[in-house]
Amino acid sequence: MADCLFCKIAAGQIPATIVYQDDRLVAFKDLNPQAPMHVLVIPRRHVSSLNDLTAQDDALVGEMIRRAGLLAGEQGYGDRGYRTVFNCNADAGQTVFHVHLHVLGGRSLKWPPG
Ligand code: 5GP
Ligand code: ZN
Repeated sequence: MADCLFCKIAAGQIPATIVYQDDRLVAFKDLNPQAPMHVLVIPRRHVSSLNDLTAQDDALVGEMIRRAGLLAGEQGYGDRGYRTVFNCNADAGQTVFHVHLHVLGGRSLKWPPG
């Protein structure tokens, strides 16, 4: 999508610290990290939010979640733990409307979230 920030990051048109990419996914460091590790995993293809996923995206979402776990494990957080979050729309605080999975690790995270 022409005007989407994360499509532009995936296309290399806006710089980001990329920690993983393949033909379907890109993972990069969040600009405003909320933990020592704060990575966003996105599909290259534009999907606005979780509400816009279809059954054909099931494998893609599985890859995003599995990649999040692998990246957290690479950073040494597999055993001590980490958090994965999809925010969807206003009440969850979604601000960028290209679906993304937050991966947070490296500190003790509170539950329930605020
Ligand atoms: P949301 O609130 O939509 O779930 O999360 C959007 C995330 O994108 C936020 O954590 C925010 O810090 C991050 N973000 C916003 N703009 C940029 C950017 O230009 N580059 C990077 N790397 N992260 C961004
Ligand atoms: Zn997009």
